[in-house]
Amino acid sequence: MEPSKRGRGGRTESAVEEHRLAPDIDVIVPPAGSYPLSRDAPERKLSRVDRYGRRARVTAYETLTSTGTVRISFEVVDDEPFDFKPGHFVGIQADIEGFGVRKTPYCIVSVPNDERTFQLLVRLVPEGPLSYYLGALKVGDVIGFRGPVGRSMVPKEEEQNELILMATGVGIGPFLSFARYLHDEGMEQPIRVFWGLRMAEDICLLNELEDLARTCEDFSYQISLSQPPEGWQGLRGRITESVPPLLATLGGKHFYLVGNGAMIEEMSEALSDLGVFKHLIYEEPYFNTRYKPEETELERVKQAFVARDLSSPRVRREAAERKLRRNQGARSASEAWESGRL
Ligand SMILES: Cc1cc2nc3c(=O)[nH]c(=O)nc-3n(C[C@H](O)[C@H](O)[C@H](O)COP(=O)(O)OP(=O)(O)OC[C@H]3O[C@@H](n4cnc5c(N)ncnc54)[C@H](O)[C@@H]3O)c2cc1C
Repeated sequence: MEPSKRGRGGRTESAVEEHRLAPDIDVIVPPAGSYPLSRDAPERKLSRVDRYGRRARVTAYETLTSTGTVRISFEVVDDEPFDFKPGHFVGIQADIEGFGVRKTPYCIVSVPNDERTFQLLVRLVPEGPLSYYLGALKVGDVIGFRGPVGRSMVPKEEEQNELILMATGVGIGPFLSFARYLHDEGMEQPIRVFWGLRMAEDICLLNELEDLARTCEDFSYQISLSQPPEGWQGLRGRITESVPPLLATLGGKHFYLVGNGAMIEEMSEALSDLGVFKHLIYEEPYFNTRYKPEETELERVKQAFVARDLSSPRVRREAAERKLRRNQGARSASEAWESGRL
């Protein structure tokens, strides 16, 4: 598929609705008790989780895919300031029956505004009680949270690098906020979004992506499916496979990696070995945070890159040193395991 600058037609976003999961989702049974604590008596019930003392009320709930992606809109209802930049997240806490108090971060996917509102994009993870707590929220419910906190994605004003944004799954969320924010601020760096998903049924948010493609000076996006249906015109495979052949050069680019920690670790290590400075690689792993790639897997990702513009004897030496450090790390971890220290 060519990078899209035009409407793709065909798919429509599901309308904003009061809480209703798409039919396929209810095959995943939410854990017992994973319902909002706040509907009837928010203050009394949330007082049990008062470490996260901030409060926000649900104003809209949208089911975006039949595979379990929802978008939830909130308004902050406490009196504290609520300022954030793209890349910041809120920590949500809930006391979930059968699971106890859970605290989990979620990136804000809406654009900074003066109305003290924010949106989250949530993947309902079968084994994730807090995701189901959020998935069971209804308009009017009140949640307890802290933040916004985290690292801003916004590059320094003088930086004119092309922005290469790579996401898997719900990791696309903060990129929507980021691209829109840059446009609104008049920062029109070229932006290339690569979004890795499993199946066509996981695709959503096309209206938002198309809107960015239409209104931003130089914005394009491509979707890569690891399990594409027959006739799929877009990219195929995991983005660690499909993106490297598309980048003719690596210099003059700032890379942003959000989502599955496995993708991030493989991509980040490969880019570093090919000469990209670490400060030009923004990473936000949502899960798989301890993943360490096999050296053969990493080699495969590196080999898929066509760009060699940053390659130099120094870069090659540093890559060799990094490889040695990775191997030493693996050796000492396995030694520790064998000696019973892990
Ligand atoms: C900084 C940060 C920002 C995050 N932002 C978001 C966000 O915007 N939207 C969002 O949906 N999640 C986000 N996450 C993941 C989220 O915090 C939770 O891990 C997830 O919702 C499940 O939470 P839980 O407490 O119910 O279960 P947990 O105990 O946290 O996780 C249960 C299991 O689900 C796995 N898991 C978590 N997320 C996924 C996923 N997307 N796909 C497949 N498996 C997964 C975990 O590895 C774990 O094995 C973010 C995580 C971090 C660290």
